[in-house]
Amino acid sequence: MALPLSTVKGVGPALEKRLHQRDIRTLGDLLLHLPKDYIDDRQLSPIAQLCDGVSARIQGRILTKEARGYGKKRQVIILLADDSGRIRLNFFHSGYMMSDARLSEGREIAVRGVAERWQGQWQMTHPEWCVSEAFQPGYQPVYRALAGLSGKRIATLIRQALTLLPVAASSPLDAVLAATASPLRQALRELHQPHDLDSEALNRAAVRLKCEELILYLQLMREKKRQADCPAVSLQAETSSRLMHQSLPFELTDAQASAWSDISTDLNSGKRMHRLLQGDVGAGKTWVAALAMIKAAGCGYQAALLAPTEVLAKQHAETLQALFAPLGFTIKLLTGSTRAKERRELLAELGSGELKLIVGTHALLSEDVVFNHLALALVDEQHRFGVRQRWGLADKKRDGHQAVHLLGMTATPIPRTLALALYGDMDLSIMRGMPPGRKPVETRVIASDKMKSLIAGMQRILDAEGRIYWIVPRIDEDEDGLSVDQRVELLKRYFPDANVLGLHGRMKSGDKNGALEAFTTGVCKMLVSTTVVEVGVNVPEARLIVIEEAESYGLAQLHQLRGRVGRSSEQGYCMLIAGDAASEGSRTRLNQMVNTHDGLELAEADLALRGSGDAVGTRQHGDAGFRLLNMAEDATLIRYWFENLPDFDPGEEMQRFWRPFAESTD
Ligand code: ADP
Ligand code: MG
Repeated sequence: MALPLSTVKGVGPALEKRLHQRDIRTLGDLLLHLPKDYIDDRQLSPIAQLCDGVSARIQGRILTKEARGYGKKRQVIILLADDSGRIRLNFFHSGYMMSDARLSEGREIAVRGVAERWQGQWQMTHPEWCVSEAFQPGYQPVYRALAGLSGKRIATLIRQALTLLPVAASSPLDAVLAATASPLRQALRELHQPHDLDSEALNRAAVRLKCEELILYLQLMREKKRQADCPAVSLQAETSSRLMHQSLPFELTDAQASAWSDISTDLNSGKRMHRLLQGDVGAGKTWVAALAMIKAAGCGYQAALLAPTEVLAKQHAETLQALFAPLGFTIKLLTGSTRAKERRELLAELGSGELKLIVGTHALLSEDVVFNHLALALVDEQHRFGVRQRWGLADKKRDGHQAVHLLGMTATPIPRTLALALYGDMDLSIMRGMPPGRKPVETRVIASDKMKSLIAGMQRILDAEGRIYWIVPRIDEDEDGLSVDQRVELLKRYFPDANVLGLHGRMKSGDKNGALEAFTTGVCKMLVSTTVVEVGVNVPEARLIVIEEAESYGLAQLHQLRGRVGRSSEQGYCMLIAGDAASEGSRTRLNQMVNTHDGLELAEADLALRGSGDAVGTRQHGDAGFRLLNMAEDATLIRYWFENLPDFDPGEEMQRFWRPFAESTD
């Protein structure tokens, strides 16, 4: 499983690099790219029995092969025959096929494609083909495109990876789970090369994979919980946080006041604080965090805030600087794109203790970031971080100093029982409700064929100086056109004056900031993005968010996304487009969004509705930090293993393999 990708035939240095950028480094990583669907490719259909519009596998002899047109436009037409009839195969822009010896007249090939009846004859356009000897009947997995590779290329790579996987490849969990589940290696085979499409067997195999990630995670949490219980600096009453409290432009809400009271009690207690602050999008967690930070600084110590994206870190730096400056404190920003000279100076100030407050991305976790005396670590949107990153800041304690207080924040509402399993190492403060004066975002579920009226509605928003987010499910191009670039192209045609831009986690950070800056200032009026905008981005002029393939998200996540609009006194709107494949059940689920505006309530509804969902074929990347697990879908599984956690030693290799992501890249 840990074999490098270069062992796979066809993976040269360039491709290897591209896959590395997608965090795919080993055979095992590649094998976690599970099929999105399967095609029943067991049977050959006689040509005479084809059905119009239906995909089928046929096998026949090439009668003729001819080309039409010239150059790039060259079209190749093959006439294929079996005992029952004939069919015409059309390949456009495929001149190179003329010289392919495997396609010479008289050769037998196996072809899969959609049969069409045209002018009384059968034809297929761009069918998939191979020489007859190479055809292996069975279920063919269908993969999503990845790192610019088509689903078909991925299939070839994965087929090879499976053959390369040593027979002895195993997991420390194989023995622990032997009574109830297949070994890991077998589960991977069952998912990638199923013998039949028994959904229960597929589900079991998928669950086996998830167990791997989950049990390791729970083990790490248990370990953390043991370490967490220890003394820490007691932060006594001081004047800075009191002054800030008094000078805030609005009173704290009751929820904020109560959370702040929990936190200041912890900070004072002499025991290490370990608290998760959960509050809906826009509930005002930043002020509470700011109070805690200024308290640490007021006592003469340092505080650091970790944010999952550069965009968010930058916004925090600005908001917090405005709050701290009147009290005589400075907060600085450290990210991956901080210039070397500035970074050097900043690190020196942190080391000497001259700088008390800092906010940044995972760049803060880098080894050479050394604090003079860190007393408080904060992690915003902590669900976006893996266990290691979440603890990374607090681990920056110096020898001889006491442990660092830790405050996590999240807007992802996790029902209490699940929170206990996932963040069992933390105490919980829940902020319910919103600062006064917010209007709920008007939400509608629409079908994908209602594009026309949607476009008209979008134009009205633009005419009224509003801005629009358009959320797509993926970065990579796929047949369905739901990638960032594909949507930017489409929307540009409808709205030539809106300066439509794209944003996703794999763009260079300069480009990301550029796009967001343009949207913030209004140079760009429409931003096509993946869920990267989910976390904390604040553009008050954004009035409408359109979310495509909405059924593939959890309700809590949709609620997070919806929280990007309605951040001013103007009415905000959210349009959820249900994909063509959305089931009746998932439409019902989406309809919950229309009437419910409380994140926690939505999360609970989601759990109740989805229960133990079909594990195969749903969104491939789970919640951030997890590669496969999905909080809503796997709640039952998570609770089960939390309560029945086996004792075992995960070992270095297993930990390296499941490495929780530092930053979500969707
Ligand atoms: P989140 O909890 O999602 O991080 P923020 O901290 O970004 O929310 O707060 C959202 C907005 O609400 C900010 O513009 C902030 O200034 C405002 N806000 C926070 N607390 C209050 C309050 N008590 N009264 C009025 N507005 C508030
Ligand atoms: Mg926030």
